Amino acid sequence: MVCHFEWNGLALQADLTRPIDLSTVLVGNGGPNPSAWYVDSPRMTPVVGEGFVGAVDQGGAVNFRDVLFNPHGHGTHTECMGHITPVVHPVDPLFRNQTNHLPCLATTVTPKAMEEDLVVDADQLDALPNAPWPPALVVRTLPNGEDKKTRAWSNTNPPYFTVAFMTKLVEQGVKHLLVDLPSVDREVDGGRLEAHHTFWGLPDNPRSHCSITELVYMPSSAPDGMYLLHLGVAPMDNDAAISRPVLYPLI
Ligand SMILES: [Zn+2]
Repeated sequence: MVCHFEWNGLALQADLTRPIDLSTVLVGNGGPNPSAWYVDSPRMTPVVGEGFVGAVDQGGAVNFRDVLFNPHGHGTHTECMGHITPVVHPVDPLFRNQTNHLPCLATTVTPKAMEEDLVVDADQLDALPNAPWPPALVVRTLPNGEDKKTRAWSNTNPPYFTVAFMTKLVEQGVKHLLVDLPSVDREVDGGRLEAHHTFWGLPDNPRSHCSITELVYMPSSAPDGMYLLHLGVAPMDNDAAISRPVLYPLI
C-alpha cells in the first residue's frame, strides 16, 4: 500500500505497509510505563457497584475499568498552546477534520553540555538541508536506549531545547515538533517555559495551529531523513492528549 503525496514540488511515495510507531504504551498499576513530573503510576481500576464488579476474573461479565492517568506525565502525548495559556485551549481541533498525514523530517542529535545541563541548541540543526523544511520534525536524542520507553524522568534534569533552537524551528515553519524527552524546557526553570513560549509565539504571535509531542520513542533502526507522519491524537477536550505518531518510510 503506497501513499502518494507532494512536498516542495517533489512527488513522493510512502510505504504504508512499514509503519514505525513512535508511541509508548500506557501501562497501569505500577507496570512498565514512562513517567515524568512526579506523577504516580497510571491507575486502571475495575468499577464496583451493587452486584457488579468490572473484572471477569472476579466474577464480572466484562472488564470495565476506570483509567486515571496524566497526559503530560505518562508517556507519548501531543499538546497545544493551551498548555501554557490562561484559557485551556484544547488540542483536539488541531487534528479534527484536518490532514493528519504530514511530510516529516527526522533528525538525531547529541545534547551538549551547558553548565550543569544538557541542551539541544540551534547549531545542531546545521546539518539539515537549507531547502524548506516540512511541517513536522522529529528530534531523536542520543543515547537512545530502549529504556526510554519506560524511564522514570522525575528529578533527573533531562536535556532540553534552547530558545535559539525553537526560534529556528519557527523561522523554518515547523508546525509540529516531536521529541523523545519529557519537555522542551528544563525540568526546573521557575515556570518560565521559554522554549514552549517561543515555539507557540506567546504572548504576541500565537501559533494556535502548532503542536508539541513529547515522550516519543523513535527506534534506533529507523534512519534520519524524510518520512510521512501520521499524527493520531486521542479526542479529548484538554490541552494535551495521549497520541500515536507513526512514521512511514519513503520509497
Ligand atoms: Zn507535555
